[in-house]
Amino acid sequence: MPNNFDVVIIGGGHNALIASCYLAKAGLSVAILEKNGSLGGATVSQKVFPEYEARLSRYSYLVSLLPDKIVADLGLKFETIDRSVSSFTPENIGNQDLGLLITKGLVGQTKSDFKEITSGDSEIEAWKSFYADVQKLADVIAPTMLGKLPTRSELKAKVSHKIWDEIIEVPLGKVLEARFESDLVRGIVLTDGLIGTFSDAKDLVANICFIYHLIGNGTGAWNVPKGGMGALVSELIELAESLGVKFVVDSEVTEISKSEGVFTTKNRQQSFTSKYLLANLAPGKLANILGTKPPATLDGSQVKVNMLLTKLPRLKCGTDPKLAFAGTFHFDERYSDFQRAFDEAASGKIPTKVPAEMYCHTLSDLSILGADLVERGFHTLTLFGIHTPAALFEKDNKASKAIILERLLAQLNEYLVDPIESCLAKNSDGSLCIEIKSPLDLDEEIGLPRGNIFHKDLSMPFREDNEKPGWGVETDIPNLFLCGAGAIRGGGVSGIPGHNAAAAVLEAQSS
Ligand SMILES: Cc1cc2nc3c(=O)[nH]c(=O)nc-3n(C[C@H](O)[C@H](O)[C@H](O)COP(=O)(O)OP(=O)(O)OC[C@H]3O[C@@H](n4cnc5c(N)ncnc54)[C@H](O)[C@@H]3O)c2cc1C
Repeated sequence: MPNNFDVVIIGGGHNALIASCYLAKAGLSVAILEKNGSLGGATVSQKVFPEYEARLSRYSYLVSLLPDKIVADLGLKFETIDRSVSSFTPENIGNQDLGLLITKGLVGQTKSDFKEITSGDSEIEAWKSFYADVQKLADVIAPTMLGKLPTRSELKAKVSHKIWDEIIEVPLGKVLEARFESDLVRGIVLTDGLIGTFSDAKDLVANICFIYHLIGNGTGAWNVPKGGMGALVSELIELAESLGVKFVVDSEVTEISKSEGVFTTKNRQQSFTSKYLLANLAPGKLANILGTKPPATLDGSQVKVNMLLTKLPRLKCGTDPKLAFAGTFHFDERYSDFQRAFDEAASGKIPTKVPAEMYCHTLSDLSILGADLVERGFHTLTLFGIHTPAALFEKDNKASKAIILERLLAQLNEYLVDPIESCLAKNSDGSLCIEIKSPLDLDEEIGLPRGNIFHKDLSMPFREDNEKPGWGVETDIPNLFLCGAGAIRGGGVSGIPGHNAAAAVLEAQSS
């Protein structure tokens, strides 16, 4: 029985690799079956523009949710780099080009920027008070992520503050309207509720997305992965290999059956048997294979644009681009912009203005560039455009992407002295070094159902009081566990579902 393992994992994303390391360390035999030719799923670095030595984090790009404990447990050397700038948002008021730079700790020019843009000190004070309250939630929730699911009542009692109701019970939009006056500031805060989530500000699904963006490691800081996202995957592959994990790539699983407690998992050429089966692929994709009903979930609703630049563009407001692009650069993400874009997209139209944010990896970490590009002053830029749901691409994916890309670049150029096109590197055929990925591309390339970057809608990080205890990875089939972003407390580059799926297997094994 050469293809018999204790555990078979379908899908080779970072959660699969993390689960495999924990399980192999505990002495179990593990095989990972990945449909693509390489491992990593949404967590890869690639030479997106083959003529240039630049390894971009092609899909996911920043890390917050990966607990330090997982890194320590597995002895990983993977590091993330802290950013002293949280965000920058250019704004035109009365024909004056201004900008709001928000630094960590609100130091430096942050206070004067707030004053200039929001006409006073009340918004910066509101900001301080809101995020101090959100911290109380992060302090309680973050330490629970690698244990069995806590109940709603347990967490609520531990938080014991009005922020519980504000973030868990009341739609985020209502809270932001009560806490902040400025359209711009409300929008910057709301962004964390809408990343990858096609929602109105007043739908609780935005609250859930917001929570995951604010609790990582108890700080909610979004850090730069040193060496790019692929650095994490490379290290995990090396560790898993050294522990004897078997990788089978180009192995799309098409059949699963179970008989007398043994799973048989088949790709087109081979079968694998195992006592435990872990699903790193999305729950909807698993349901398709099992022939069951996929969970109802929102469409993915973002475009990802990857760029290679010969120089950073100068800004009309005069802020040094090295400062403006050092954190997350928001544009056209006012509260009212989000509402308009959502309404337009929900009615089937490409938003007139696509709310977007960008980040420059190379201002924090040049190791993703070859020495020649470093010397020539090249940079990478990653853009995440919001409220562009899969349905907008169904008729003609290529044409919709072209319209959206053109729109995004024109929007961005409103804030720049140097048009972004003049900063992009060129391929030898004269084409610009820029690519755009739609939700449908993500489905096709890495199996995200209709581009949903979290595999399915995120869930609150707790169970209801009357629900069964568990790790948040259980399915209706005994010994088949979710081991990917679709688990409760999944979503994002966190390794949490991988850790928790391994814990569920080890618990089942010992009972
Ligand atoms: C554009 C984009 C930007 C993002 N940005 C961030 C970010 O900055 N920070 C962050 O924390 N998160 C981000 N995310 C989300 C994050 O990347 C994912 O939630 C996370 O990587 C999921 O990891 P995973 O291991 O659970 O699954 P995945 O990485 O999705 O891996 C699942 C694997 O299963 C494979 N598979 C699918 N079907 C089959 C089959 N039938 N047989 C075999 N294999 C199969 C797929 O090919 C894939 O390799 C982003 C996601 C995207 C798409």
